[in-house]
Amino acid sequence: MLSIDVYTCYAVAGAGSLVGLGLLAMVRTEQARVSYALGLFRWALLCLSALLCVQLSPLNLRPEVTKGAIGFAGMGVALLAWAFRQLNGRRTYPVAGLVVVLLVGLSLWGAAAFGTDTQYVQVIGIVFSLISLGMALDQSLITIQNGKFTGGDLSLLVAACEFALNWLVLLYWALTQPGPYPSHWLHTPDWLMPITGLSFALLPLAVSSVVFASVNDRLMQQLRARSLSDDLTGALSRRGLRELGERMVALQSAQASILAVLMIDIDLFKDVNDRYGHATGDDVLRHVTNTVRDHLRDDALLARYGGEEFSVLLPVRSRLEAQSIAERVREIVELSPFETRRGEIRVTVSIGIAYHREDTSLEDDLARADACLYQAKHTGRNRVVSGD
Ligand code: GH3
Ligand code: MG
Ligand code: MG
Repeated sequence: MLSIDVYTCYAVAGAGSLVGLGLLAMVRTEQARVSYALGLFRWALLCLSALLCVQLSPLNLRPEVTKGAIGFAGMGVALLAWAFRQLNGRRTYPVAGLVVVLLVGLSLWGAAAFGTDTQYVQVIGIVFSLISLGMALDQSLITIQNGKFTGGDLSLLVAACEFALNWLVLLYWALTQPGPYPSHWLHTPDWLMPITGLSFALLPLAVSSVVFASVNDRLMQQLRARSLSDDLTGALSRRGLRELGERMVALQSAQASILAVLMIDIDLFKDVNDRYGHATGDDVLRHVTNTVRDHLRDDALLARYGGEEFSVLLPVRSRLEAQSIAERVREIVELSPFETRRGEIRVTVSIGIAYHREDTSLEDDLARADACLYQAKHTGRNRVVSGD
């Protein structure tokens, strides 16, 4: 069997914490929520790194040193639980969190100073089991609620469950053995020692990698959301239209329903810019986007195709339905002026409609809708022209 001694575990856990601390200090993120969680993680790892002092102190360890370091580590684990809540966007109560961390430190210190060694081991078992069980439970709930298993969520769940299981076994052992014990861990049963030792020693590194995975997940999600949507209007970007549109086309083909493709262009928008300035032009652009979006069903895709040009993918039951929706959109834009201090700004839109066919690509559909839009422009603007 793997032979492992407790001081090596302390040294590995302490050193791992310091390495994690350094790595986390290098992570830069603009997201305030994540930054706050990272701050908590740093404190947690700092507490855990106190374990290193147990190993670095003279070989003939005084029991208080070991116990003191374990007490600090307990506070560190409580901080970890708090930080994970924060990282997951759960509501945290700073005062309550602080009280829990202090209670953990106090109970471990009290058990170390006044209790017998057996009592000390039992208090450690209870405190660590409770915290790690809470962590495992919280993480399970979050994973179930999210309904998706990202690498970060999953590895954290596994780490928390494993850690909780470990301390439960140790607690069971501490509660059922007759005392007294000269010091904790040294009398852990042989079969349990490698498991407990390894999970304890590797916890800080597991935590650091889980935090990295979570932060990475979050940044990737942000990046993806940003690349799919348009900054100014919040509508889909062209890339978003391509990605989500292709999916919609596939879905419509499978359901054998009709997919209408609309091209919408604001009429004489250059005049708005010329008269009111580019900034107000931007406001009008946002206003028109919101007006159009409010009058589309949730299953429609609205994208900003170019400057003041939008495209809409619209699943419909009939071409007539598509035409009446387009007509309503045209009308509602005409009837919804943008209010400014200098008065109302009225704009209208021209709309071209094409319908997706089995033998056409989304690009083709958009081009045909654009041709209809061109016709609408050349026959007086503020109108809907339907192709095919
Ligand atoms: P038409 O009825 O033929 O479409 O006339 P138009 O003036 O709208 O057409 P044109 O395509 O010539 O001009 C579009 C204008 O939209 C030109 C450009 O200044 C403006 N524009 C494009 N993107 C933006 C933007 O992001 N913000 C603002 N404020 N204006 C924009
Ligand atoms: Mg225009
Ligand atoms: Mg245009």
